Amino acid sequence: MSKHWRPHGSFIPNQSGIRLQQFKHKQIRRSRVDAEVTGKVRLSGEERSHTTDVVVIGSGIGGLSCAALLAKYGMHVTVCESHSIPGGAAHAWQRNGYHFESGPSLYSGMDARGKDANPLAHIFQAIDEPLDLIKYDTWNVIVPEGEFVTKVGNDNFVEVLKKIGGKDSGKAVAEWQALQEHMKPLARAASMIPPAAIRFDPGVLVSALRRYFGDVISSGPSALQLTGPFSKVIQGQITDPFIKNWLDLLCFLLSGLPANGTIAAEVAFMFNEWYKPNSCLDFPVGGSQAMADALVRGVTKRPGGRILLNSHVEEILMEEGKASGVRLRGGGVVKANKAVISNASVWDTFKLVPSELVPSEVRA
Ligand SMILES: Cc1cc2nc3c(=O)[nH]c(=O)nc-3n(C[C@H](O)[C@H](O)[C@H](O)COP(=O)(O)OP(=O)(O)OC[C@H]3O[C@@H](n4cnc5c(N)ncnc54)[C@H](O)[C@@H]3O)c2cc1C
Repeated sequence: MSKHWRPHGSFIPNQSGIRLQQFKHKQIRRSRVDAEVTGKVRLSGEERSHTTDVVVIGSGIGGLSCAALLAKYGMHVTVCESHSIPGGAAHAWQRNGYHFESGPSLYSGMDARGKDANPLAHIFQAIDEPLDLIKYDTWNVIVPEGEFVTKVGNDNFVEVLKKIGGKDSGKAVAEWQALQEHMKPLARAASMIPPAAIRFDPGVLVSALRRYFGDVISSGPSALQLTGPFSKVIQGQITDPFIKNWLDLLCFLLSGLPANGTIAAEVAFMFNEWYKPNSCLDFPVGGSQAMADALVRGVTKRPGGRILLNSHVEEILMEEGKASGVRLRGGGVVKANKAVISNASVWDTFKLVPSELVPSEVRA
């Protein structure tokens, strides 16, 4: 939270670039277009109804990335978002001059190129929306056990453990150092798999791991732990309560969930970054919302690119077994000539399609 960040309202994406004449639906007043992207005014069903190429359900970072890339390659895209602010888990809001972040805060490799780049960095390069980034390598940490400054990376955490544990810190230090060794092959293996291939579901065995199995296993059999929760990796290894809480905190910062809900690969990626000399993290000026805003611009600056906020999809329309559009809560239908893509969770997406089309094992 910071009092000095750019107010959220200032993100309004390149409104002069919104090409009204390109919209296939009937002309809407300029103030209405602004309303679309600020979410401040609710559009009527008639104003929201139109035909486009692709409808994306949800304006999370995933949905916006997908929409911005499609728009770059010439598709007319409409993103329908339930909330009044784009960004999903990565949105922010203002109250009394303070800036609140709803989710992510740890980013790395945001200005790197090639293999070392964060996948999001590739998107921002592709849509030509560079981010203003701040690099940092120290954190000030305030926890019940005390306040300390720690460097990004793994090495200086031993000093923190010594400070917190005093003369009894020997066991904690040994556990931490053993974990560093245990994580090395996992971190190596994680760096060989594209982040997009890492998922927390059994299907990953077929779609991703089969392809990268050789690379992963070359780092040692422990690398197979990557697809399980991080809590399994540290089970039996870490008994020190402070380190356990610290790892839960790191997991929460990464995924919003503690170690038992965070995929080990995600943590291994972080360790891999932190093993590098002079490792540091990136923070976008304006917070995570600045990233969502850049992606929104990536959509709206292209012909036929629209973000409909306050627009909850309540049904995916089907024609001849194919998704043909969406029906919005409160009125309005957006027809899709080419595809409907869902950024909502699998469970939420299944609720939007006719139940007879949902596989029985999922319905149960
Ligand atoms: C507290 C917390 C901390 C985190 N920290 C980090 C971090 O430091 N670093 C990091 O890399 N990641 C972090 N993450 C994870 C990261 O935020 C998420 O992985 C990412 O933002 C998810 O994006 P998404 O597009 O997949 O989904 P979401 O952000 O969940 O977006 C889905 C969107 O779909 C919309 N939607 C759903 N159903 C409908 C519907 N029927 N109609 C219309 N819209 C709909 C939702 O409103 C939402 O906007 C953190 C997450 C949390 C919660």
